[in-house]
Amino acid sequence: MIIDAIDITLEEIALTKPYTISYKTTSSIKNLVVKVVLNNGVYGLGAASVSKYVVGIDTESSYKNALAYKDELIGKNISNLFQNIDLIEKALEKDPGSRAAFNIALHDTFCKNSNLPLSQFLGQKIKPLPTSVTVGIKGVEETLEEIEDYCASGFNHIKIKLGQQIDQDIERIVKTQERFKNSIKIRIDANQGWSFNDTVKFFNTVSNVELIEQPLKVSETEECLGFSKELKKTIALDESIVTPENAITFSSKDYAGIFNIKLMKCGGISAAREIASTALAKGIDLMWGCNDESIISVSAALNVAMSYPNTKYLDLDGSFDLAKDVVVGGFEIKDGLMVPLSTAGLGVALI
Ligand SMILES: [Mg+2]
Repeated sequence: MIIDAIDITLEEIALTKPYTISYKTTSSIKNLVVKVVLNNGVYGLGAASVSKYVVGIDTESSYKNALAYKDELIGKNISNLFQNIDLIEKALEKDPGSRAAFNIALHDTFCKNSNLPLSQFLGQKIKPLPTSVTVGIKGVEETLEEIEDYCASGFNHIKIKLGQQIDQDIERIVKTQERFKNSIKIRIDANQGWSFNDTVKFFNTVSNVELIEQPLKVSETEECLGFSKELKKTIALDESIVTPENAITFSSKDYAGIFNIKLMKCGGISAAREIASTALAKGIDLMWGCNDESIISVSAALNVAMSYPNTKYLDLDGSFDLAKDVVVGGFEIKDGLMVPLSTAGLGVALI
């Protein structure tokens, strides 16, 4: 079947829970949506919401790039999935936003046209995992209240944003652990806000934390080599792992035990699989993260995540706090576990 039309839209979406991390406060996002329509009427969707701070380009620029590029795919045969992906990988090399949206849309369209769930196409290797839900930087009482709410909704893997002042950070986690004991699992994200010594202090003071995400600045990633073996095992590199090349660099020595892959950093399913394969070859575990994003791109990330045996952690809560979305479906949450739908493609439907 032939690609007949491509629609590109950009929408501003408010967040129901604005939040703060170590370097910014977010209250709304821009969401780029790509719709690929075949000459038999079948369509597929892709989406992107990139962070300029992390990848150097904002979603509005990605939208403009997508508009300028879209006609190049008209007339292409959807069966040539990998040739079509090669075209966008080259043409949109410098823009992970438009690249991700097209890459996801081509996968969804191909799979829907073949009546195949994306999970089956990629080859699901693991059982469903829980996703963490995220608490931004806030006071101790507000942190405890928000976690109570999450527990009441069936979530028990909580990611807490830290990275402003180490002693306050430690206090927040210790108080949280006193309140919730072993009823929740805690992972933390310092978003580059700590020094080497802060990180060691945290690790030596606080136990029972699943993982420590990106404690050091990207420019200081080299310093991870000085952490103890035990500490390195719990470090998840996030902002340091943007491209497949970064994955090669930071797996060449023992920098960290975990890589956090986001489709919105690397530019879609194909690049994410390159990073995941490098990590697999080097014995590095995978965490799959997201920005605030549509169900479209979160579902894509979930399906790729489940196609790797070294996937250990999901942090795919990016669509939960959008005031509205363009689709429904994609996945279900069952007892806190994220389960992809078994319908064709991403399993999403336009509202
Ligand atoms: Mg992070």
